[in-house]
Amino acid sequence: MKYIDEFQNPELAKRLLDDIHATVTRPWALMEVCGGQTHSIIRHGIDQLLPEEIELIHGPGCPVCVTPLELIDKALEIASRPGVIFCSFGDMLRVPGTGRDLFQVRSRGGDVRIVYSPLDALKIAQDNPDREVVFFGIGFETTAPPNAMTVHQARRLGIRNFSLLVSHVRVPPAVEAIMQSADCRVQAFLAAGHVCSVMGTEEYPELAERHQVPIVVTGFEPLDILEGVRRAVRQLERGEHRVENAYPRAVRAEGNKAARAMLEDIFEVTDRGWRGIGVIPASGWRLAPHYREFDAEYRFSVTGITTTEPAECRSGEVLQGLLKPHECEAFGTTCTPRNPLGATMVSSEGACAAYYLYRRLGGTPAPLEASPVV
Ligand code: SF4
Repeated sequence: MKYIDEFQNPELAKRLLDDIHATVTRPWALMEVCGGQTHSIIRHGIDQLLPEEIELIHGPGCPVCVTPLELIDKALEIASRPGVIFCSFGDMLRVPGTGRDLFQVRSRGGDVRIVYSPLDALKIAQDNPDREVVFFGIGFETTAPPNAMTVHQARRLGIRNFSLLVSHVRVPPAVEAIMQSADCRVQAFLAAGHVCSVMGTEEYPELAERHQVPIVVTGFEPLDILEGVRRAVRQLERGEHRVENAYPRAVRAEGNKAARAMLEDIFEVTDRGWRGIGVIPASGWRLAPHYREFDAEYRFSVTGITTTEPAECRSGEVLQGLLKPHECEAFGTTCTPRNPLGATMVSSEGACAAYYLYRRLGGTPAPLEASPVV
């Protein structure tokens, strides 16, 4: 398949690996920001092929995983109301809220529907003018543009029974928070290529300079990741800390200008809670005041919900790279994909799900399931 097969070429992978082995002289800890990169690394065994001096720390870039419990509970509350059609991507239906999930709301009569695009939800709103249709808008800078476009379309078409429950997050403030943590061991970042394809790379040089940390924009196929690691290690060995673009087939420095303009019009930057981590200043988007009529939190008055994270789930430490999934006591025992305690075990981009799916079980005798993700 074009743009995939050539980036999985074993001979080229060996050449990159040889270069990395020849370059590294001492231990380095690199964080891959995105959960998609984590799954690719674990699936292809890339971490096991690298020199033992290189540790890959799994970052917080899984949109389902970082959606705060409070937002899940708001989604559950809205989806339970009569007259509401609640639409979401499939992963979110199994993410545990306080005591239940969206699947359980559906099994008790709630009209919860899986869609593949926010525009599907808008069409449902068009077809059901006597119902309130809510789309659960989660994710990073990658999923925010289509959600922004859908709100724009709703206003343009005069569709008033559509609203968005917004839980969008931004990568650069998360990188900042990770670097400011007293426990931080990260010495270089593999930035998420798809995020940069939207936002560009302009936010990163200042971060790289201030924290003296190399940031390499990296894709998702094995050769992409090896090239990102190769460039990051080369910088570390030379004592450099620059932003490099190792994903030029998708990323331009200025990003996607049309998408960025849409984001600036529809959303405004806000503080945002990250599940298991807490509030990170300026790390999210919410609908701008002139689009508030499409904001489900206001439309359904669910602004007062507060929650407490379950103590047994250590996903906050996993998301900050402080703990490997199989080091969690619940991994593979009380927490499995079929009975997840935390979102990192549910999501197709979650680190716990990746370790479970690809048998990175550590010493834990886990009962494996055939279908670990939705
Ligand atoms: S294994 Fe389960 S309980 Fe442990 S951190 Fe991951 S999701 Fe949470």
